[in-house]
Parts: sequence; structure tokens; C-alpha cells
Amino acid sequence: MAQTKLGKKHICESCGTKFYDFGKPNPVCPSCGAQAEGEAS
Ligand SMILES: [Zn+2]
Repeated sequence: MAQTKLGKKHICESCGTKFYDFGKPNPVCPSCGAQAEGEAS
């Protein structure tokens, strides 16, 4: 699996939106603003 400059991929537990954390330690959903812990592989 290739590492991207987008950081890790996450799934928002609140709204299900998939997004990247861009290397940030506390990723926040860009759609609803909830913090996401889920990690998609
Ligand atoms: Zn969300």
C-alpha cells in the first residue's frame, strides 16, 4: 500500500464521510465537523 501525502484515510463515525487527515493528529470530518477515529484501509 502506497503512502500518500494526504495522510491516513478516515471514516467519520457520525456521517460516514471518508476523508484524509493530511498528517494531522486529530482529524476532523470536513462535512460535519465531528472527530473521526475510524481508519479505512
Ligand atoms: Zn462527519
